[in-house]
Amino acid sequence: MAKKETTGNPVKDIHKRLRREPVSAWSRRDREEIFAFNEGYKRFLFAGTTERTSVNETIRLAEENGYIPFETFLENPPKKLEGQKVYYNNRGKSVAFWVLGKDIADGVNFVAAHVDSPRLDLKPAPLYEDTDLCLAKTHYYGGVKKYQWFNVPLGIDGVVMKANGEKVPVRIGFEPGDPIFVISDLLPHLDRREGDITKVFQAETLNVLMGSIPLTFEKTEGVKDLVLLNVLNLLNERYGFVEEDLFSAELEIVPAIEPKDVGFDRSMLAAYGHDDRVCAYTALKALFDARSVSKTACTILLDKEEIGSVGSTGANHTFWKKLIKRLLPLYHTEASIDTIIERSMVISADVAAGINPSFKEVHEEKNAAKLGYGITITKYTGRGGKGGASDAHAEIVGYIRRLFNEAGIVWQNGLLGKVDQGGGGTVALFFANEGLSVIDAGVAVLGMHSPYEIVSKADVYETYLAYKTFFEHSK
Ligand code: MN
Ligand code: MN
Repeated sequence: MAKKETTGNPVKDIHKRLRREPVSAWSRRDREEIFAFNEGYKRFLFAGTTERTSVNETIRLAEENGYIPFETFLENPPKKLEGQKVYYNNRGKSVAFWVLGKDIADGVNFVAAHVDSPRLDLKPAPLYEDTDLCLAKTHYYGGVKKYQWFNVPLGIDGVVMKANGEKVPVRIGFEPGDPIFVISDLLPHLDRREGDITKVFQAETLNVLMGSIPLTFEKTEGVKDLVLLNVLNLLNERYGFVEEDLFSAELEIVPAIEPKDVGFDRSMLAAYGHDDRVCAYTALKALFDARSVSKTACTILLDKEEIGSVGSTGANHTFWKKLIKRLLPLYHTEASIDTIIERSMVISADVAAGINPSFKEVHEEKNAAKLGYGITITKYTGRGGKGGASDAHAEIVGYIRRLFNEAGIVWQNGLLGKVDQGGGGTVALFFANEGLSVIDAGVAVLGMHSPYEIVSKADVYETYLAYKTFFEHSK
């Protein structure tokens, strides 16, 4: 849009009219509003630290906001479908929240985020004893810099399936008074390891300390691993577990560090798992708060993004399609699922890499995101030569740009890094493969995939406003 005001200086006027200058989101929004929104986000972050506990927390919030399970809804669907709020829980690890539109034949506006984050999983047979210490073996999940996981407080968040079929949730390290767990590194005095950091820090040394008291000192002839036995005994007393139960379990080792404000001005937020629960939370709140949704809106939260969106809970499995098919008869529509897909659009809501001033050289600054400059739109991810990228069409970039500009949303352009520097992906291509129009847009992060990632609170709030705008305007 051409700006009418003149500065009195023709060169400045031309500059103002033609060039694009990034805008600080702090200059456009009320600081108190930004801070208040982030308090809710902080609580969400610590209430769920894995895909499972995050899904639980999103469902709890949705039910508070009047959402009902899909199956319950289908048993007795109301005459007026528009505005109905439903959710579908896919195996407790991914979930789709819907606000139904006037006519499903108009297509669906999706915002798709993921709720799995890089972490360490306990191996199926994790416990062993060495040097009178009980430890647990792990297998890292997603792209981690292994050295970052030593000497930080860790919690356990997961489930165990017992022999009798009972599912037992285990969550330790997140309540006041809980113990935490630690992977201890080698002291610098004796560390003469040199060379490639990816080789110095080996996955098989990511072993978590679990205990150090032997079960007993009496009558121990012939019984080995008394410290391990004591740990097992404690697990048995508290949960009724035996060692084999740990085989049918998903016990995830995640940082047990509370989200905290960063800086004298409290402008940033440090937490584990901003990637991608920051987009999950903003997408969910946007759906809750969106006014006048005439086209069906869906916030879909997925698992397994960090390992390639595989499996029955990842974006590769299109469970949302089954849900649309089940809605079709209610709308008495002639439209096919293919037509609905053609009319649908997806914001692939995932984090972007913010420029870290100490490591600027990996970015090309004209095309990189800065903290505090609003939601980051990423035209393409992938690797050098755009390998594996879902490259958004100019048409959808144009649509989103216009939509955001008209609503006064502060947005910025952000690619991952310099060409040939590295690469990454999101869920975008999985939706694109189904024929949907997709664009990546989310929050810029510092220290992505580390145990303590950083975002700008202004970007968190702006991203929420952006997704809300997307839902409120049907195309
Ligand atoms: Mn992500
Ligand atoms: Mn990631």
